[in-house]
Amino acid sequence: MYPRDSRVGLNGSGLLIANPPYFTLERLQAWLPELKSCLAVGPAGGASARMLSQSELMGTALDQYGVIGHPVGHSLSPFIHGMFARDCGQNISYRLYDVAAAEFHERVRAFFAQGGRGLNVTLPHKIRGMEVAHELTPRAAHAAAVNTLAVRADGILGDNTDLVHDLCDNLGLVITHRRVLVVGAGGATRGILGPLLGLAPKVVVIANRTPQRAEDLAAAFADLGAIQGVGFGQLEGAPFELIVNATSASLTGVLPPFPPSVIAPHTVCYDLAYGKSSTAFLEWATRQGCARALQGWGMLVEQAAESFRLWRGVRPATRKVLAALKERSGST
Ligand code: NAP
Repeated sequence: MYPRDSRVGLNGSGLLIANPPYFTLERLQAWLPELKSCLAVGPAGGASARMLSQSELMGTALDQYGVIGHPVGHSLSPFIHGMFARDCGQNISYRLYDVAAAEFHERVRAFFAQGGRGLNVTLPHKIRGMEVAHELTPRAAHAAAVNTLAVRADGILGDNTDLVHDLCDNLGLVITHRRVLVVGAGGATRGILGPLLGLAPKVVVIANRTPQRAEDLAAAFADLGAIQGVGFGQLEGAPFELIVNATSASLTGVLPPFPPSVIAPHTVCYDLAYGKSSTAFLEWATRQGCARALQGWGMLVEQAAESFRLWRGVRPATRKVLAALKERSGST
């Protein structure tokens, strides 16, 4: 097996390149069975895949990308970007970087100093991601969080790639003039508020377990449109056309305390969480008779596609990748 810190290893559809210091003859021999099955992520993938050249194994030939977080072992990003790269005819390397908070700045600087081209930034580093960027896109600045870092001629660009593309382009939802409820006031909510408000909804209500955080967020985004921050107890009035669950409650099977009045037969419910089976929120919403109950797979893939576009200048098609991802994860 390759070392636990994953200097070399395989992702779902390609290769995670190793750092040069790990390529001693002894190590290479130990990893030979796995290296034999290593395929470059890129146009040579699939049935006609080739073995990597020595220069590629040394990490010099392929542009380097990856996801940095803690933990990241569960990340589906290598699989997604591997498929994007193959479909777009691009040669890249994409690795997992499991990095604790105290080492984040140093490891990111080292990554880019060694020629790395871009990183996805995931929990718990999205705010730290801002600190290493030399420039922020307007949506990243508004969100005060970064999920993508990309090398530019004059430094590192920080972006917060779009989480609402899935809602409009894939699912065909109309947001303009609609009442939207976003539940949760964490990093993911920060990422979706700007793009949501850009679609001119009638109002966006943020409801959060800690009401103050919802109020603070609403104040931070008030210049972009009609927005309110409340606690669950203050959720009242007409039902919403769209409810986005952006709490991490789904990860522990907990249902936030929604009053049933938020849902009507035309309400679309979207949980940012995704997995093999439905979430507590989506099951509850279905029981209340909502129009559609959707998991966050599409957001995951669309956000990755936007990162890929920033890095490679080409936006990959997402439909096939989304289907492959759901099949791989056994999601219904
Ligand atoms: P976060 O920054 O840690 O925020 C978590 C939020 O959930 C907070 O508002 C917190 O409320 C709330 N919460 C946690 N436990 C709760 C409970 N038991 N009941 C009610 N509210 C609860 O997390 P995040 O980064 O925003 O991520 C949120 C979710 O989005 C996760 O499930 C994540 O996997 C998912 N996500 C999906 C995508 C995608 O591409 N599909 C992208 C990003 C994130 P308090 O403020 O009161 O603590």
